[in-house]
Amino acid sequence: LPKSIGWIGLGLMGNPMIRNLLKKMSEDTQFYIHDVVRESVDKLVEEGNGRVHACESSVEVADKSDLIISMLPEGRHVKTVYLDEKTGVLASPTLSGKTLLDCSTIDTASSLAVRDACKAKYNDSVDFYDAPVSGGVVGAEKGTLTFMLGCSTSDPNLPFLTSLLSLMGGNIFPCGGASLGLTAKLCNNYCSGLIAIAVSEAMNIGIKSGMDPRVLANVFHTSTAQSAICDDWCPVPGLTPSAPASNNYAGGFRVELMKKDFALAVDTAERVGAELALGREGLGVYEGACGDERCRGLDSRVVYRFLGGEEE
Ligand code: NAD
Repeated sequence: LPKSIGWIGLGLMGNPMIRNLLKKMSEDTQFYIHDVVRESVDKLVEEGNGRVHACESSVEVADKSDLIISMLPEGRHVKTVYLDEKTGVLASPTLSGKTLLDCSTIDTASSLAVRDACKAKYNDSVDFYDAPVSGGVVGAEKGTLTFMLGCSTSDPNLPFLTSLLSLMGGNIFPCGGASLGLTAKLCNNYCSGLIAIAVSEAMNIGIKSGMDPRVLANVFHTSTAQSAICDDWCPVPGLTPSAPASNNYAGGFRVELMKKDFALAVDTAERVGAELALGREGLGVYEGACGDERCRGLDSRVVYRFLGGEEE
């Protein structure tokens, strides 16, 4: 494993992810970190026992590290961090031989733009991978994330990447090639976003017909409507005690992030010519929930509330 790790983006996900590396990598591994929010950097440096070093820019991170990982909100942030002519990772004169991993959930076009810029400048001497994750903040803290890697099963770096990512995650899937990690992530969130709407609507039918939603959830669990959304993340308050819905939809996966990922999936479908019967409708639901003050900032399963679900 590399002796120095660079990390850019220390938000809700990046922070617990790098903490797992700090905990699990050998004591002589050094960490070079950057975030536009200076306090996030300072806090980690303070707690890092001399192993964590603050950098003023992404290019400084790249200069000082063997491998660079980023965890940023959207494609435009990723493009700035890698491609800015003065401060970006690719401006580093010492990038040859290094590996770059972007774990953000972004549009495939932005990811491919960074990869193409790497190829144009460094040919094959710099490897850039999309490596988005699933599992949320809890998975990031526990080190049980699923990584969807944009590479083939025969990629020579795969064994090394697998041992590194295993320090932060439980499942690492090579998804076939550049940007296909992102495609897998967007397909997953499209699917789970639609299931949350379907479970919410079906539960609403049952409740309004006079059914106990607990009985209905048990029926789903042992029948063809079984899903992790109903079993572990039930949108109806009170059914899964550990689910955000049972805690006024606090924590979990914010509805704004679901809207972003859902929109990216719909865009991808249009680009590749995959017909979607429910894409626009689903997106409309998530856009509506984001604009509704009863739902804004809450776990995405708050679509149950948005769709008029009864709450005790
Ligand atoms: P976040 O907003 O909490 O963190 C992003 C961090 O990037 C912030 O600290 C921000 O200051 C920093 N940043 C932004 N622009 C920067 C720049 N130019 N240079 C340096 N730092 C910059 O977001 P998050 O929840 O950590 O999510 C990150 C990514 O992971 C997103 O793409 C999200 O969709 C994805 N994701 C999130 C979750 C989740 O549950 N939060 C789950 C899976 C995937």
